[in-house]
Formats: sequence, C-alpha cells, structure tokens
Amino acid sequence: MFIFIGGSKNNNGVIQTVQGPVGSDTLGVTLSHEHLFSNFGLPINETSTYDETRLLAQVIPYLTMLHSQGVRTIFDYTASHFGRRADLLKAISDSTGISIVTNTGIYGAADDRHIPKYAYDASAMELARRWITEANNGIDGTSILPGFIKLAFDQGPPSQIDRKLFEAGLLTHLETGLTIAVHTGDNPDAVHLQLDLLNKYGVHPSAWIWTHANLHDDFELLFEVADHGAWISMDGVNHENIEQYLEYIQRFKDADLLDRLLLSHDGNGYPAGGDIRPFEAIPKELIPSMRSHGFSESVIDQLLVKNAGEAYAIRVRRTGEREN
Ligand SMILES: [Zn+2]
Repeated sequence: MFIFIGGSKNNNGVIQTVQGPVGSDTLGVTLSHEHLFSNFGLPINETSTYDETRLLAQVIPYLTMLHSQGVRTIFDYTASHFGRRADLLKAISDSTGISIVTNTGIYGAADDRHIPKYAYDASAMELARRWITEANNGIDGTSILPGFIKLAFDQGPPSQIDRKLFEAGLLTHLETGLTIAVHTGDNPDAVHLQLDLLNKYGVHPSAWIWTHANLHDDFELLFEVADHGAWISMDGVNHENIEQYLEYIQRFKDADLLDRLLLSHDGNGYPAGGDIRPFEAIPKELIPSMRSHGFSESVIDQLLVKNAGEAYAIRVRRTGEREN
C-alpha cells in the first residue's frame, strides 16, 4: 500500500537507546516519560541551544542519584523543535550508566508553537519520510537513532495539522515499527480520532500510547481503550500524589489491565535552564508504598520494568495480527 525507498534496519523486538539497540527484556526499572532537558516555550529556532556545561553539571549528578535508587532506563520525551539534543543525551547516558531513549516526530500541542513551518507545507507522507530517514540514518548528523515517535494533540477539536502529524506517525510506524506516543491528555475527541485513524491505517492500538492519560478522569474510556490493547500512560507521579497513584494502580489491577499501564513523572532535569522538576518519586516513594500496601514484586516488576519493554519494543503492529 505505501512503498518507501530504502527500508528499515533489522531491529525487530529491540529497544533503540542512544547507545544502540538493547533487548526489550533488559531495561530494568524504567521511567517511561521524562525530559532530561528541554527549551519548551522558547522561540522555535532557539530550542537546540543550551549552556551545555551548566546543563551537564545539573543533569548528570541527578541521574547518578537516580541510578543509585535503581533506575536503569529513561525514555526522553523532548521532541525536535523544543529542545531535543541526541548528542547530549548520549553524553549523559555515557557518564551515568542509565540507558536513554530519544524520539522522532513533531510536537503539535501548546497551540502549535513548536511546529516548524515546513510541516504545514509537507504531506503526511513527506513528513513520514523525514522521520523514517532519522530512524534509519540518525538524528541531526549523528548516528543516534530514535526509539519511538513523539506527537501531540492540542486541547479541543483536533486540528488539521495535529491530524496530519498523527497520520505521518502511522506511516512511520508501518515502515519502522516505532511506537507512537501521543500527548493527548484529557481530550476524548482526540482519543477517538486516533483510534479511528489507527484502524484506517491498519495499525494495532498496541502501537499507540495515550500520553498524559492521568489528566482524563473517566475510567470507562481509559479501560475501553486499554482493552483494545492501547497503552495508558499515567505520567504525573510526584511527591504529593502517591496515594492517588496507588488508587489508579488498584483500579487497573481490579480491571485486569495492569499489562497496559505505564507510570512516570513527566519531570525535567533542565527546563529551559531552570531548576529540576523532580522525577524521583517512583523509586523513592511509589515503589516502597506499593510494597507496604501489599502489591507483589511481580506487579511492581510488571509496571516499572516489563510494560515499558513491551510498549516500546520495535515491531510493526498491524490490526488483525495476534499480540503476543
Ligand atoms: Zn512530557
């Protein structure tokens, strides 16, 4: 149906980190949605520039601390055009021993302020070709490959540009097998549009992550979507809301849907040069609280190790093909 020149690397079933491919069962404790740094909010042509000395001096000790708390892998959600720097992620991974996974794609939320002009002129297919080229050849002149696709919908009725970016994501998935993580939040219209388009393109919902699903409080829809095989990312864990997350986990357990749930903080190690927005509550507070509330080690392992490996393992997921 869609023919591309070239073709993907043979990386079926692996997780693509900034240091290269690793087995999806080797991730260890994983934070599935964080930002090691970003320049969110800055003008679009200034988002790749950092005071690198200051950035590394702030982020490396923080990740070293997280490593001592047991964290082994972090999925970095800072997209191109709001601060992605694959070379800095690699330097941080090299000096901390934490595996880091970066992304391709374009972030369409925040009133489109981080969408470059070329994206409006290009077709979904042309955008997909750019992202497929990154997935095959590397990001910004490096040989570092993205490990997933990062996209976003604004609040309200889905816009043409956000829809086109998502269609480009579907085309990229069909060629590369990269999982599509989409900032969707509390937007049922965007959820339904994405499910319709997944179906139209023949992509199984297990290739899609509903990012910031914790902002949506209708569990009926969360469970319905999870039941279709989609990933539900509850990515707002912090020091203040551990009890609430224990309750979310219990509800997913009662619904027998723990195998669709991803947990993270959406923290930031260097937000436009500012102070760290912490991403340490999961190892320091949530995991110990799960133990004291009687959750088994196998549930903890499922939520913080296994699910991320499953969600992000690179493979084309077509509708009608059996999952697992
Ligand atoms: Zn985020």
